Amino acid sequence: MTTAQTQDLTRDLDVQPTPLALLLLGREADTRSERGVDCPGDLPSPSDPDLVERARAAKEKLGDKVFVLGHHYQRDEVIQFADVTGDSFKLARDAAARPEAEYIVFCGVHFMAESADILTSDAQQVVLPDLAAGCSMADMATAEQVAECWDVLTEAGVADHVVPVSYMNSSADIKAFTGKHGGTICTSSNAERALEWAFEQGEPNSTKVLFLPDQHLGRNTAVRDMGMSLDDCVLYNPHKPNGGLTAEQLRDAKMILWRGHCSVHGRFSLDSVNDVRERVPGVNVLVHPECKHEVVEAADYVGSTEYIIKALEAAPAGSKWAIGTELNLVRRLANRFAPEGKEIVFLDKTVCFCSTMNRIDLPHLVWTLESLAEGKLVNQISVDRETEKFAKLALERMLALP
Ligand code: SF4
Repeated sequence: MTTAQTQDLTRDLDVQPTPLALLLLGREADTRSERGVDCPGDLPSPSDPDLVERARAAKEKLGDKVFVLGHHYQRDEVIQFADVTGDSFKLARDAAARPEAEYIVFCGVHFMAESADILTSDAQQVVLPDLAAGCSMADMATAEQVAECWDVLTEAGVADHVVPVSYMNSSADIKAFTGKHGGTICTSSNAERALEWAFEQGEPNSTKVLFLPDQHLGRNTAVRDMGMSLDDCVLYNPHKPNGGLTAEQLRDAKMILWRGHCSVHGRFSLDSVNDVRERVPGVNVLVHPECKHEVVEAADYVGSTEYIIKALEAAPAGSKWAIGTELNLVRRLANRFAPEGKEIVFLDKTVCFCSTMNRIDLPHLVWTLESLAEGKLVNQISVDRETEKFAKLALERMLALP
Protein backbone atom coordinates (compact mmCIF):
# COMPACT_ATOMS: atom_id res chain seq x y z
CA MET A 1 0.00 0.00 0.00
CA THR A 2 1.45 3.39 -0.95
CA THR A 3 1.48 6.37 1.40
CA ALA A 4 -1.17 8.03 -0.81
CA GLN A 5 -3.38 4.95 -0.54
CA THR A 6 -2.92 4.93 3.21
CA GLN A 7 -3.97 8.57 3.33
CA ASP A 8 -7.06 7.78 1.22
CA LEU A 9 -7.94 4.95 3.54
CA THR A 10 -7.46 7.16 6.56
CA ARG A 11 -9.78 9.76 5.02
CA ASP A 12 -12.40 7.12 4.20
CA LEU A 13 -12.41 5.94 7.77
CA ASP A 14 -12.67 9.49 9.08
CA VAL A 15 -9.65 8.92 11.28
CA GLN A 16 -8.09 11.85 13.09
CA PRO A 17 -4.31 11.94 13.02
CA THR A 18 -3.21 10.01 16.06
CA PRO A 19 0.16 10.35 17.75
CA LEU A 20 0.57 6.59 17.42
CA ALA A 21 0.00 5.76 13.78
CA LEU A 22 -0.81 2.30 12.50
CA LEU A 23 2.34 0.40 11.62
CA LEU A 24 2.25 -1.09 8.17
CA LEU A 25 2.98 -4.73 7.63
CA GLY A 26 6.69 -5.47 7.83
CA ARG A 27 7.67 -1.89 7.07
CA GLU A 28 8.18 1.42 8.76
CA ALA A 29 8.40 2.00 12.45
CA ASP A 30 6.64 4.20 14.93
CA THR A 31 9.44 5.77 16.88
CA ARG A 32 6.97 7.79 18.97
CA SER A 33 5.45 4.66 20.43
CA GLU A 34 6.50 3.43 23.83
CA ARG A 35 7.24 0.08 22.26
CA GLY A 36 10.58 -0.92 20.88
CA VAL A 37 10.88 -1.11 17.13
CA ASP A 38 14.19 -2.90 16.74
CA CYS A 39 14.86 -6.53 17.22
CA PRO A 40 17.81 -6.74 19.64
CA GLY A 41 19.49 -9.61 17.83
CA ASP A 42 19.99 -11.28 14.47
CA LEU A 43 16.73 -12.31 12.93
CA PRO A 44 16.91 -15.39 10.72
CA SER A 45 16.24 -14.70 7.07
CA PRO A 46 12.60 -15.25 6.03
CA SER A 47 13.92 -17.36 3.15
CA ASP A 48 15.81 -19.76 5.44
CA PRO A 49 14.39 -23.17 4.43
CA ASP A 50 15.09 -24.54 7.93
CA LEU A 51 12.87 -22.12 9.84
CA VAL A 52 10.15 -24.65 10.62
CA GLU A 53 12.69 -27.22 11.79
CA ARG A 54 14.54 -24.60 13.86
CA ALA A 55 11.34 -23.53 15.60
CA ARG A 56 10.42 -27.14 16.29
CA ALA A 57 13.88 -27.95 17.68
CA ALA A 58 14.01 -24.90 19.94
CA LYS A 59 10.52 -25.56 21.26
CA GLU A 60 11.37 -29.18 21.93
CA LYS A 61 14.51 -28.18 23.79
CA LEU A 62 12.49 -25.81 26.00
CA GLY A 63 9.87 -28.49 26.73
CA ASP A 64 7.36 -27.55 29.47
CA LYS A 65 9.34 -24.40 30.23
CA VAL A 66 7.69 -22.65 27.31
CA PHE A 67 4.01 -22.16 26.49
CA VAL A 68 3.20 -20.57 23.13
CA LEU A 69 -0.04 -18.64 22.81
CA GLY A 70 -1.48 -17.97 19.34
CA HIS A 71 -4.16 -15.35 18.84
CA HIS A 72 -6.92 -16.22 16.37
CA TYR A 73 -5.73 -13.51 13.95
CA GLN A 74 -2.16 -14.80 13.79
CA ARG A 75 -0.47 -16.11 10.62
CA ASP A 76 -0.65 -19.84 9.82
CA GLU A 77 3.16 -20.11 9.91
CA VAL A 78 3.06 -19.03 13.55
CA ILE A 79 -0.21 -20.69 14.62
CA GLN A 80 1.28 -24.11 13.82
CA PHE A 81 3.55 -23.71 16.85
CA ALA A 82 0.85 -22.48 19.26
CA ASP A 83 0.07 -24.70 22.24
CA VAL A 84 -3.32 -23.00 22.47
CA THR A 85 -5.25 -20.58 20.28
CA GLY A 86 -7.97 -18.18 21.26
CA ASP A 87 -8.88 -14.57 21.94
CA SER A 88 -6.69 -12.41 24.14
CA PHE A 89 -8.49 -13.01 27.43
CA LYS A 90 -8.74 -16.78 26.99
CA LEU A 91 -5.04 -16.94 26.15
CA ALA A 92 -4.05 -14.91 29.22
CA ARG A 93 -6.08 -17.24 31.42
CA ASP A 94 -4.63 -20.32 29.70
CA ALA A 95 -1.14 -19.00 30.49
CA ALA A 96 -2.05 -18.45 34.15
CA ALA A 97 -3.29 -22.05 34.30
CA ARG A 98 0.17 -23.33 33.26
CA PRO A 99 2.37 -22.25 36.19
CA GLU A 100 5.10 -24.72 35.21
CA ALA A 101 5.70 -22.69 32.04
CA GLU A 102 8.45 -20.24 32.86
CA TYR A 103 8.22 -18.50 29.49
CA ILE A 104 4.93 -17.43 27.94
CA VAL A 105 5.53 -16.57 24.29
CA PHE A 106 2.55 -14.46 23.24
CA CYS A 107 1.98 -14.46 19.49
CA GLY A 108 -0.42 -11.55 19.57
CA VAL A 109 -0.03 -7.84 20.20
CA HIS A 110 1.37 -5.68 22.99
CA PHE A 111 -1.77 -5.17 25.12
CA MET A 112 -2.41 -8.93 25.07
CA ALA A 113 1.06 -9.67 26.41
CA GLU A 114 0.51 -7.05 29.13
CA SER A 115 -2.74 -8.75 30.16
CA ALA A 116 -0.95 -12.09 30.29
CA ASP A 117 1.75 -10.56 32.51
CA ILE A 118 -0.93 -9.15 34.82
CA LEU A 119 -2.72 -12.50 35.17
CA THR A 120 0.29 -14.82 35.41
CA SER A 121 2.55 -15.39 38.42
CA ASP A 122 5.79 -13.51 39.12
CA ALA A 123 7.71 -16.68 38.22
CA GLN A 124 6.42 -16.52 34.64
CA GLN A 125 7.98 -14.22 32.06
CA VAL A 126 5.85 -13.01 29.17
CA VAL A 127 7.59 -12.51 25.83
CA LEU A 128 6.33 -10.76 22.69
CA PRO A 129 8.34 -11.97 19.65
CA ASP A 130 8.23 -8.53 17.97
CA LEU A 131 8.02 -5.51 20.26
CA ALA A 132 6.53 -3.44 17.45
CA ALA A 133 3.42 -5.62 17.32
CA GLY A 134 0.96 -3.14 18.74
CA CYS A 135 -2.76 -2.56 18.32
CA SER A 136 -3.93 0.57 16.57
CA MET A 137 -7.12 0.60 18.64
CA ALA A 138 -5.33 0.31 21.98
CA ASP A 139 -2.99 3.11 20.86
CA MET A 140 -5.96 5.42 20.30
CA ALA A 141 -6.40 5.91 24.06
CA THR A 142 -3.25 6.97 25.90
CA ALA A 143 -3.03 7.43 29.67
CA GLU A 144 -2.55 11.20 29.25
CA GLN A 145 -5.58 11.57 26.98
CA VAL A 146 -7.80 9.58 29.33
CA ALA A 147 -6.62 11.57 32.37
CA GLU A 148 -7.45 14.76 30.47
CA CYS A 149 -10.88 13.36 29.62
CA TRP A 150 -11.52 12.69 33.30
CA ASP A 151 -10.68 16.34 34.04
CA VAL A 152 -13.22 17.39 31.40
CA LEU A 153 -15.86 15.14 32.99
CA THR A 154 -15.01 16.55 36.42
CA GLU A 155 -15.35 20.13 35.21
CA ALA A 156 -18.69 19.29 33.60
CA GLY A 157 -19.82 17.98 37.00
CA VAL A 158 -20.47 14.42 35.78
CA ALA A 159 -17.34 12.48 36.81
CA ASP A 160 -18.97 11.33 40.09
CA HIS A 161 -21.66 9.58 38.05
CA VAL A 162 -19.36 8.01 35.49
CA VAL A 163 -18.28 4.35 35.58
CA PRO A 164 -15.49 3.50 33.12
CA VAL A 165 -15.85 0.28 31.14
CA SER A 166 -12.76 -0.58 29.11
CA TYR A 167 -12.50 -3.13 26.39
CA MET A 168 -9.86 -5.81 26.85
CA ASN A 169 -8.14 -4.25 23.80
CA SER A 170 -6.58 -1.43 25.79
CA SER A 171 -3.20 -0.81 27.36
CA ALA A 172 -2.41 -1.80 30.95
CA ASP A 173 -2.45 1.92 31.81
CA ILE A 174 -6.06 2.26 30.66
CA LYS A 175 -7.06 -0.91 32.51
CA ALA A 176 -5.43 0.53 35.65
CA PHE A 177 -7.29 3.84 35.19
CA THR A 178 -10.50 1.81 34.93
CA GLY A 179 -9.75 -0.12 38.10
CA LYS A 180 -8.85 3.04 40.01
CA HIS A 181 -12.13 4.72 39.04
CA GLY A 182 -14.42 1.87 40.04
CA GLY A 183 -14.86 0.41 36.56
CA THR A 184 -14.53 -2.94 34.87
CA ILE A 185 -12.98 -4.52 31.80
CA CYS A 186 -15.12 -6.26 29.19
CA THR A 187 -14.57 -8.52 26.21
CA SER A 188 -16.65 -8.61 23.06
CA SER A 189 -18.48 -11.61 24.59
CA ASN A 190 -19.53 -9.98 27.85
CA ALA A 191 -19.83 -6.28 26.98
CA GLU A 192 -23.59 -6.27 27.63
CA ARG A 193 -23.17 -7.80 31.11
CA ALA A 194 -20.38 -5.35 31.88
CA LEU A 195 -22.58 -2.39 30.89
CA GLU A 196 -25.52 -3.70 32.89
CA TRP A 197 -23.24 -4.00 35.91
CA ALA A 198 -21.89 -0.49 35.36
CA PHE A 199 -25.36 1.06 35.17
CA GLU A 200 -26.27 -0.67 38.45
CA GLN A 201 -23.47 1.20 40.25
CA GLY A 202 -24.40 4.50 41.85
CA GLU A 203 -27.81 6.15 41.73
CA PRO A 204 -30.41 4.80 39.32
CA ASN A 205 -30.91 6.95 36.20
CA SER A 206 -27.90 9.15 36.85
CA THR A 207 -25.08 6.70 36.09
CA LYS A 208 -23.15 7.11 32.84
CA VAL A 209 -20.55 4.91 31.25
CA LEU A 210 -17.28 6.08 29.75
CA PHE A 211 -16.56 3.33 27.22
CA LEU A 212 -12.92 2.94 26.13
CA PRO A 213 -11.39 2.70 23.57
CA ASP A 214 -13.68 1.13 20.92
CA GLN A 215 -16.61 3.37 20.06
CA HIS A 216 -18.21 0.67 17.91
CA LEU A 217 -18.34 -2.07 20.52
CA GLY A 218 -19.72 0.47 23.01
CA ARG A 219 -22.35 1.82 20.63
CA ASN A 220 -23.37 -1.56 19.25
CA THR A 221 -23.80 -3.03 22.71
CA ALA A 222 -25.73 -0.05 24.07
CA VAL A 223 -28.06 0.39 21.09
CA ARG A 224 -28.37 -3.07 19.60
CA ASP A 225 -28.29 -5.19 22.75
CA MET A 226 -29.58 -2.87 25.46
CA GLY A 227 -32.19 -0.81 23.64
CA MET A 228 -30.60 2.61 24.11
CA SER A 229 -30.93 5.15 21.32
CA LEU A 230 -28.11 6.61 19.28
CA ASP A 231 -28.94 9.92 20.96
CA ASP A 232 -28.04 8.40 24.32
CA CYS A 233 -24.45 8.12 23.06
CA VAL A 234 -21.93 10.92 22.58
CA LEU A 235 -18.49 10.63 21.03
CA TYR A 236 -15.50 11.95 22.98
CA ASN A 237 -12.77 12.98 20.56
CA PRO A 238 -9.43 13.21 22.39
CA HIS A 239 -8.03 15.38 19.59
CA LYS A 240 -10.54 18.18 20.24
CA PRO A 241 -10.76 20.60 23.17
CA ASN A 242 -13.14 19.14 25.80
CA GLY A 243 -13.51 16.11 23.59
CA GLY A 244 -15.55 18.20 21.17
CA LEU A 245 -18.50 18.08 23.59
CA THR A 246 -20.35 20.65 25.67
CA ALA A 247 -21.00 20.15 29.38
CA GLU A 248 -24.70 19.84 28.53
CA GLN A 249 -24.04 17.03 26.04
CA LEU A 250 -21.99 15.20 28.66
CA ARG A 251 -24.73 15.67 31.27
CA ASP A 252 -27.44 14.37 28.91
CA ALA A 253 -25.53 11.33 27.65
CA LYS A 254 -25.79 7.81 29.03
CA MET A 255 -22.84 6.48 27.05
CA ILE A 256 -19.69 8.53 26.54
CA LEU A 257 -17.88 6.68 23.77
CA TRP A 258 -14.16 7.12 23.27
CA ARG A 259 -13.31 7.89 19.65
CA GLY A 260 -11.29 4.77 18.93
CA HIS A 261 -11.82 1.92 16.54
CA CYS A 262 -10.18 -1.18 15.11
CA SER A 263 -8.47 -0.50 11.79
CA VAL A 264 -9.32 -4.01 10.61
CA HIS A 265 -13.02 -4.19 11.49
CA GLY A 266 -13.46 -0.51 10.61
CA ARG A 267 -12.80 -1.44 6.97
CA PHE A 268 -16.14 -3.19 6.53
CA SER A 269 -18.92 -0.99 5.19
CA LEU A 270 -22.59 -1.18 4.32
CA ASP A 271 -21.44 -1.59 0.70
CA SER A 272 -19.46 -4.70 1.72
CA VAL A 273 -22.67 -6.23 3.11
CA ASN A 274 -24.86 -5.26 0.12
CA ASP A 275 -22.20 -6.41 -2.30
CA VAL A 276 -21.74 -9.86 -0.77
CA ARG A 277 -25.50 -10.41 -0.68
CA GLU A 278 -25.52 -9.84 -4.45
CA ARG A 279 -22.40 -11.94 -5.10
CA VAL A 280 -23.48 -14.88 -2.91
CA PRO A 281 -27.25 -15.39 -2.95
CA GLY A 282 -28.60 -16.79 0.31
CA VAL A 283 -25.47 -15.84 2.26
CA ASN A 284 -25.58 -15.33 6.05
CA VAL A 285 -23.65 -12.24 7.05
CA LEU A 286 -21.86 -12.68 10.38
CA VAL A 287 -19.76 -9.81 11.75
CA HIS A 288 -17.74 -8.89 14.82
CA PRO A 289 -19.18 -6.14 17.09
CA GLU A 290 -16.07 -4.00 16.47
CA CYS A 291 -17.61 -3.24 13.05
CA LYS A 292 -19.41 0.06 12.46
CA HIS A 293 -23.00 0.36 13.66
CA GLU A 294 -24.53 0.38 10.17
CA VAL A 295 -22.63 -2.81 9.30
CA VAL A 296 -23.80 -4.56 12.45
CA GLU A 297 -27.38 -3.41 11.77
CA ALA A 298 -27.25 -4.81 8.24
CA ALA A 299 -25.73 -8.16 9.28
CA ASP A 300 -27.70 -11.29 10.11
CA TYR A 301 -25.58 -12.27 13.11
CA VAL A 302 -23.14 -10.41 15.33
CA GLY A 303 -20.65 -11.83 17.80
CA SER A 304 -17.12 -12.23 19.13
CA THR A 305 -14.52 -14.45 17.44
CA GLU A 306 -15.49 -17.33 19.75
CA TYR A 307 -19.15 -16.80 18.76
CA ILE A 308 -18.20 -16.76 15.08
CA ILE A 309 -16.31 -20.05 15.39
CA LYS A 310 -19.16 -21.71 17.30
CA ALA A 311 -21.76 -20.44 14.80
CA LEU A 312 -19.80 -21.95 11.93
CA GLU A 313 -19.32 -25.22 13.80
CA ALA A 314 -23.09 -25.44 14.26
CA ALA A 315 -23.95 -24.32 10.71
CA PRO A 316 -25.62 -26.92 8.47
CA ALA A 317 -23.87 -28.36 5.42
CA GLY A 318 -24.63 -26.35 2.31
CA SER A 319 -24.95 -23.04 4.19
CA LYS A 320 -23.13 -19.94 2.97
CA TRP A 321 -21.43 -17.40 5.20
CA ALA A 322 -19.74 -14.04 4.75
CA ILE A 323 -17.57 -13.25 7.76
CA GLY A 324 -16.60 -9.74 8.86
CA THR A 325 -13.48 -10.23 10.92
CA GLU A 326 -9.72 -10.62 10.42
CA LEU A 327 -8.67 -12.41 7.25
CA ASN A 328 -6.22 -14.98 8.69
CA LEU A 329 -9.01 -16.36 10.87
CA VAL A 330 -11.59 -16.30 8.07
CA ARG A 331 -9.24 -18.17 5.73
CA ARG A 332 -8.54 -20.83 8.33
CA LEU A 333 -12.24 -21.25 9.03
CA ALA A 334 -13.02 -21.46 5.29
CA ASN A 335 -10.43 -24.25 4.89
CA ARG A 336 -11.56 -26.04 8.02
CA PHE A 337 -15.25 -26.13 7.13
CA ALA A 338 -15.00 -26.60 3.33
CA PRO A 339 -14.93 -30.43 3.64
CA GLU A 340 -18.24 -30.19 5.55
CA GLY A 341 -19.81 -28.38 2.58
CA LYS A 342 -19.97 -24.97 4.27
CA GLU A 343 -19.08 -22.07 1.99
CA ILE A 344 -17.28 -19.31 3.86
CA VAL A 345 -16.19 -16.06 2.23
CA PHE A 346 -14.55 -12.91 3.51
CA LEU A 347 -17.01 -10.02 3.82
CA ASP A 348 -14.87 -7.50 1.96
CA LYS A 349 -13.26 -7.82 -1.45
CA THR A 350 -9.98 -6.25 -0.37
CA VAL A 351 -7.40 -7.81 1.92
CA CYS A 352 -7.89 -7.02 5.57
CA PHE A 353 -5.18 -8.47 7.79
CA CYS A 354 -4.33 -7.04 11.17
CA SER A 355 -1.04 -5.56 10.00
CA THR A 356 0.42 -5.14 13.47
CA MET A 357 -0.44 -8.69 14.54
CA ASN A 358 1.16 -9.89 11.29
CA ARG A 359 4.49 -8.42 12.37
CA ILE A 360 4.96 -11.60 14.34
CA ASP A 361 6.21 -14.00 11.73
CA LEU A 362 8.22 -17.20 11.72
CA PRO A 363 11.67 -15.50 11.79
CA HIS A 364 10.67 -13.57 14.95
CA LEU A 365 9.27 -16.72 16.54
CA VAL A 366 12.41 -18.72 15.71
CA TRP A 367 14.63 -15.96 17.08
CA THR A 368 12.57 -15.81 20.29
CA LEU A 369 12.48 -19.56 20.89
CA GLU A 370 16.17 -20.05 20.10
CA SER A 371 17.13 -17.16 22.40
CA LEU A 372 15.05 -18.63 25.24
CA ALA A 373 16.52 -22.09 24.59
CA GLU A 374 20.00 -20.53 25.00
CA GLY A 375 18.90 -19.05 28.33
CA LYS A 376 18.54 -15.48 27.00
CA LEU A 377 15.31 -13.75 28.01
CA VAL A 378 14.33 -11.41 25.15
CA ASN A 379 11.47 -9.00 24.51
CA GLN A 380 9.98 -9.37 27.96
CA ILE A 381 6.71 -7.50 28.59
CA SER A 382 6.49 -6.45 32.18
CA VAL A 383 3.80 -4.29 33.78
CA ASP A 384 4.87 -2.28 36.83
CA ARG A 385 3.38 -3.23 40.23
CA GLU A 386 1.17 -0.17 40.70
CA THR A 387 -0.35 -0.44 37.22
CA GLU A 388 -0.75 -4.18 37.67
CA LYS A 389 -2.57 -3.74 40.99
CA PHE A 390 -5.31 -1.51 39.58
CA ALA A 391 -5.53 -3.25 36.20
CA LYS A 392 -6.02 -6.53 38.04
CA LEU A 393 -8.78 -4.94 40.12
CA ALA A 394 -10.65 -4.02 36.93
CA LEU A 395 -10.08 -7.51 35.48
CA GLU A 396 -11.31 -9.12 38.71
CA ARG A 397 -14.49 -7.07 38.53
CA MET A 398 -15.02 -8.51 35.07
CA LEU A 399 -14.43 -12.05 36.34
CA ALA A 400 -17.02 -11.44 39.07
CA LEU A 401 -19.69 -10.26 36.62
CA PRO A 402 -22.88 -12.31 37.01
S1 SF4 B 1 -7.60 -6.69 14.91
FE1 SF4 B 1 -7.96 -4.55 15.51
S2 SF4 B 1 -8.31 -4.62 17.73
FE2 SF4 B 1 -7.38 -6.60 17.12
S3 SF4 B 1 -5.17 -6.28 17.45
FE3 SF4 B 1 -5.59 -5.77 15.29
S4 SF4 B 1 -5.96 -3.53 15.30
FE4 SF4 B 1 -6.12 -4.25 17.42
